[in-house]
Amino acid sequence: MKLIIVSNRLPLKIVEENNIYKVIPSPGGLSTGMDSLEMNVERYWVGWPGMFLKESKEKTAIDDQLLTQKYSPVYLSPEQIENYYEGYCNSVLWPLSHYFPSYIRYETKYWEAYEEVNRLFCEATLKIIEPGDIVWVQDYQLMLLPKMIRNKAPDTSIGYFHHIPFPSYELFRTLPQRAQLLDGLLGADLVGFHTHSYMRHFISAVYRVLKMECTLDEIHLDERVVDVDAFPMGINFQMFQKAMENDAIRQQAEEFRKSLGNSKLMLSVDRLDYSKGIPLRLKSFETLLDNYPQYRGAVSLVMIVAPSRDNVDIYAKLKTEIDTLVGRINGKYSTIDWNPVYYFYRSFQFEELTALYHNSDIALVTPLRDGMNLVAKEYVATKNESPGVLILSEMAGAAIELSDAIIVNPTDQKEMVEAMIQALEMPEDEQKEKIKSMQQIISVQNVNQWAQDFLEELLEVREKNVALNNKILKQENFKLIKEKYDQSKNRLVILDYDGTLVPFRRKPSEASPTPPLLALLANLCKDPRNRVVISSGRDRQTLDKWLGKLPIGLAAEHGAFYKENGEWRKRIEDVPWDKEILNIFEHTVRRTPMSKIEIKDTALVWHYRNVDSWLAELRVTQLINALINPCSRLNLQIMKGNKIVEVKNNDVSKGSEAIRLMNQDNYDFIMAIGDDTTDEETFIALPDHAITIKVGKSSNVAKYNIPTQGQTIVFLERLIN
Ligand code: UDP
Repeated sequence: MKLIIVSNRLPLKIVEENNIYKVIPSPGGLSTGMDSLEMNVERYWVGWPGMFLKESKEKTAIDDQLLTQKYSPVYLSPEQIENYYEGYCNSVLWPLSHYFPSYIRYETKYWEAYEEVNRLFCEATLKIIEPGDIVWVQDYQLMLLPKMIRNKAPDTSIGYFHHIPFPSYELFRTLPQRAQLLDGLLGADLVGFHTHSYMRHFISAVYRVLKMECTLDEIHLDERVVDVDAFPMGINFQMFQKAMENDAIRQQAEEFRKSLGNSKLMLSVDRLDYSKGIPLRLKSFETLLDNYPQYRGAVSLVMIVAPSRDNVDIYAKLKTEIDTLVGRINGKYSTIDWNPVYYFYRSFQFEELTALYHNSDIALVTPLRDGMNLVAKEYVATKNESPGVLILSEMAGAAIELSDAIIVNPTDQKEMVEAMIQALEMPEDEQKEKIKSMQQIISVQNVNQWAQDFLEELLEVREKNVALNNKILKQENFKLIKEKYDQSKNRLVILDYDGTLVPFRRKPSEASPTPPLLALLANLCKDPRNRVVISSGRDRQTLDKWLGKLPIGLAAEHGAFYKENGEWRKRIEDVPWDKEILNIFEHTVRRTPMSKIEIKDTALVWHYRNVDSWLAELRVTQLINALINPCSRLNLQIMKGNKIVEVKNNDVSKGSEAIRLMNQDNYDFIMAIGDDTTDEETFIALPDHAITIKVGKSSNVAKYNIPTQGQTIVFLERLIN
């Protein structure tokens, strides 16, 4: 078994010096996590090596070298980088996910390049996949990849982790390719996010855009489930905690401290990006100096902005805005011996960065939106035993775990200034206590733990999917059923109607049987060894109208009525509908557009197939809550079925109807097929040797599963032919 990581970038880059190509490491948080993974697997990595190489002797040599180290490079042309990476990834998905929709640039060529590059990654991955391997796809650059791999290597265990925020449905729905992206992700067995709110947004998008059935953390596809979960990514805690044990870093820290004067230091570290809230942070710092003169000369802001994409217009403008603000603040308040803002527009290496973390009294981490934010965690870890205060934006994923930080809304400048004052005035003991409590969290939930948790859950979902798959009626099981069927002399076949013999329609009255279905049922009944019964929740009038001409048994309203030898019989008295219960149903219908009530002799049904799924979920809970008391008083049963809530007499069910049928004869072959929870009552009532088949989502009580309604018809046709 191999673990194949697929990410946009490899943790290395190819560089050219005097016409000679070299590979140098370029590690990030992800590769650190993978390096410390306590899992006994061989690791491969697929990704872009940061350079485009045409076919040549040099390229072959580099490829060979990389392959021996288990890296598989995907070379992207400058045009692909422009349209896929700069284009769809960073001018569509990035601004959308960080709630900057006005920065999105919609270009068809961006999407085409995104699809094309995802295909290239798929080809590269397929070259190294072997049965039993695990593929872990990383981040928003590769959202189509899980499905592409699933299509070609269906038995692979595929995970996907989304490192940036997943926006709310209201925003995500604006994307022209919303459905394709979601569909792409559903190729995975497990989709992971940093926080539960991103996870919630994703599930909400799946059920609204793709109209798929989702439970809390599971999405149901025809033949498998996709699990969704939150895994907050951590850092290499030890590496940061032990940084100050390194002499060079300690010395660097002392030099910085001397050069930066005696004032308190407030540190901010970001890439140049509009999501990081840098101008608002500067304005808040300016307001602090404007309104609280006592802090002039007493505190400096050390601001590192790592260069990023400043050739792109929006980024260039942001850079100009930051430059101007820094100039304005320093121009207004600098003195000969004090600098309000130390501004660095360059990247810092680990040694310099940790020295600054160590020296800073406060870390000001105030993005407008951030998937996680690792700087906040790195600051807390580097502090080790020293005091320090973290001011953290509630819009960063990290805020969920680091609740001992001073949490701020980065757009609320008043709150930001108050937070700075609180941090500047916080007693040292309190600082240490808070840092320690945050360290306890991030030392456990470190990057290794993050990867471990994800991969363990991925394997669990895979096992669940294999178990589901084992229940699916395949050729070998079909052969066994067919043999039993052919050898038997007296058969009972119980079939559900909606969702089993016919697909669900928008209006229940439109689901009448087609001529081919009637022909199939007639064929089934023609065999004198067969007793065929349609056991349905529908009323008897409809069943009679649609199926009454066939020599077939009918059971209506979940067994309240049955038709034998051409005559309908009633097993229970009609339920005189209590006014209170009717009122509850009517009230629900009035408040829920597109829903309707069906009044049967022995049951009341609320249908909500066409209702928005969120509203439906709310109304189902409200309806059931309102029904509990009157129904228990009247000994009625409340039942949740396929897009229905039904209240019916407690004394009959599809199960009791199955028992009635079985008791009438000695059958040597019993088979029941159905798609709903009510059909599970039939399955449970039947003896062990019965063949029970659940259509759609698999069930614990049925022996077999047929994933779709259409396949059920094919199964019946093959059985009798
Ligand atoms: N970083 C760095 N040098 C810099 C600025 C940042 O090495 O000059 C690192 C920092 O230590 C952190 C990462 O870049 O590990 C930034 O991660 P974060 O999640 O905070 O933000 P992102 O840039 O991924 O949005």
